Amino acid sequence: MTLAERNLKHNWHPYTQHKTAQRPIAIVKGEGALLWDEDGKEYIDAIASWWVNPYGHSNPVIANAIYKQLTTLEHVLFGGFTHEPAVELSEQLIAVLPANQNKLFYSDNGSTAVEIAIKVAMQYFFNNGIKKTKIIAFEDAFHGDTFGAMAASGISFFTEAFKDSLIEVVRIPVPTPGNEQATLEALNYHTASQECAAFIFEPLVLGAAGMVMYQPEILNELISICKKNQVFTIADEVMTGFGKTGKNFACDYLTAMPDMMCISKALTGGAIPMAITSFTQELFDGFYDDDINKALFHGHTFTANPTGCAAALASLQLLQSTEMKANIARVHERHLEFEERIKNNPKVKTTRVLGVIFALEIVTNSAESYYGTVRNKLYNFFIENGVILRPVGNIVYILPPYIISDSQLSKIYELIERALYDLEF
Ligand SMILES: *Cc1c(COP(=O)(O)O)cnc(C)c1O
Repeated sequence: MTLAERNLKHNWHPYTQHKTAQRPIAIVKGEGALLWDEDGKEYIDAIASWWVNPYGHSNPVIANAIYKQLTTLEHVLFGGFTHEPAVELSEQLIAVLPANQNKLFYSDNGSTAVEIAIKVAMQYFFNNGIKKTKIIAFEDAFHGDTFGAMAASGISFFTEAFKDSLIEVVRIPVPTPGNEQATLEALNYHTASQECAAFIFEPLVLGAAGMVMYQPEILNELISICKKNQVFTIADEVMTGFGKTGKNFACDYLTAMPDMMCISKALTGGAIPMAITSFTQELFDGFYDDDINKALFHGHTFTANPTGCAAALASLQLLQSTEMKANIARVHERHLEFEERIKNNPKVKTTRVLGVIFALEIVTNSAESYYGTVRNKLYNFFIENGVILRPVGNIVYILPPYIISDSQLSKIYELIERALYDLEF
């Protein structure tokens, strides 16, 4: 039996209707932007394996750092103990995070980073004897799949079965260019109620919604409205962090600063699951008290795992190298050239680029659902031709590892053009 056949006996895959889905492909090796399956077929990983892998698969710098850490101290509990990789990583991250960020809480994935942010916002007010239990979030947002993160997420069919069991979230429209006024009005309305503890948002790019983009100026305004009304702001940079937007963080495009940030995905270069929620000193101080009940009673077994921290330190070093900065700029330039070439194609509705993120919306005959037929047609076409792209409905996006070569990028662009030419939508 092949790996792909053996796999289906016991493995339940994410976001998968196993009755109708195709058999998952068994990958046996990765290097740079390439992956190989068990039959030796080669794929370009054009979405950095769900946005986690900027520096290439099986990166030797990260692998060596992990090996060294594993053979020095693989893990120690973070309750009552600490260690050099966490101390060092926190120092280095604080140096690159927005200037008001001063305390870090470690966890395992993007969803937990979001849970922690939401809990801290709510408990901050609770500790001060104030009842604020609602959260503000964008329509079409994605913040993860655990209960708090799921509540904040707006992609409805992901969360339909649980909607009666979720914390209360009020939604405001995404302020895409030309639609800012409606967002401002909705935020003014909801912040005035004094019932909302926090506003959570994906800064500048809503990833899972299909790389939907909006401008920093409007986000500055939204953050300042929240500040005026004592609503904490949570920038969910789980997708956008570590260079994807062309700067270290999407928040680096802002003049306003969020109270909290959630980071994960590329934090360890895609090697080890790890996440961090960062906070202002003010938030931390809201828990600092002689009363033990005011502490944040939250933790995860692998909080600040030393091996994860070592992988993150190596990743940060890679991100800050001149070589990686040049790669980010190069991918961005190539995307702009491609956008210029394709934007007038009659099958293309809109295009957008930020940093290494490129997205185009295809003209279709009918409204397109998230996992609908257009999406499946495109996905299969790309896979057959050795490129991993996962369209969202009729939106095709590219978010490659930064180290992707020019010829690999050209192959992705040409394949998208061929898809537009060959396929009927
Ligand atoms: C992926 C993602 C999450 C969830 O992260 P997981 O590690 O999958 O739990 C949260 N927020 C954003 C913006 C994401 O892209």
